[in-house]
Amino acid sequence: MSTLEIRDLRAGIGGKEILRGVDLTVASGEVHAVMGPNGSGKSTLAHVLMGRAEYEVTGGSVTIDGVELLGLPTWKRAHAGLFLAMQYPIEVPGVALDEALRESFAASGRDAGEVGDLLVKEAARVGLDPELLSRAINVEFSGGEKKASETVQLAVIRPRFAVLDEIDSGLDLDLLRAVSRRVEAQTSEDALGVLAITHYNRLLHELRPDTVHVLVKGRIVTSGGPDLPEELERTGYAAYGEDDAPATSAPGRAAADDPFA
Ligand code: ADP
Ligand code: MG
Repeated sequence: MSTLEIRDLRAGIGGKEILRGVDLTVASGEVHAVMGPNGSGKSTLAHVLMGRAEYEVTGGSVTIDGVELLGLPTWKRAHAGLFLAMQYPIEVPGVALDEALRESFAASGRDAGEVGDLLVKEAARVGLDPELLSRAINVEFSGGEKKASETVQLAVIRPRFAVLDEIDSGLDLDLLRAVSRRVEAQTSEDALGVLAITHYNRLLHELRPDTVHVLVKGRIVTSGGPDLPEELERTGYAAYGEDDAPATSAPGRAAADDPFA
């Protein structure tokens, strides 16, 4: 049983404050959803948790079982048990997924010889073409293949906590079901703790959240149970202070419905 604890996290980029005091606690086996309008800081939260260098952390703490992650390089955060599935997975020319995962296993003292079989098994579970496992990571993958590949990596690496930044974006309905079921199984069978950033309730039909948080302008403005996303689909984010957003950014309902945002 582990705990990921985010306390009063403040961070920004280029002198602009984006996260303005985020508090969130995820225990093993729990699913927490984070919803919120475009530009509210959801991806910033994901990147800051994993230690992306451009972001300046100006306050707060992020711990796993009391061990401070802020200040650690990304690979040490991964060793501590954190995993990030990126909203826009990057292409890594020249490095194949199976090679990268063998290195990852070796680096953490696990048997790299297991990687091949695990990958084939996990690719089949989400319908990822096994040929992609030995090709350069994400290079010429479709949007859906990138997200399926992230899911396979998550299943093979078996971290303690996973931050999933819009893992549902760009997925057709069958793949969405396969991906959300795979992650859900990992929460119950492997006690994976999940922070799932999403615009859509349909991810949460399979990946049942214990708690749903709404992030607006870098702060969690409300948290609720699994019924909150349905309420948000009706009301948008206007009730949470997004109605005074500048006219250039699409507020509330329109933002939540825009699959290309
Ligand atoms: P969300 O994921 O909720 O849509 P983001 O965290 O991507 O929001 O962005 C929050 C705000 O921070 C936006 O105004 C965005 O333009 C700004 N921002 C995020 N990343 C960067 C960056 N690398 N450089 C400059 N501004 C950024
Ligand atoms: Mg984002």
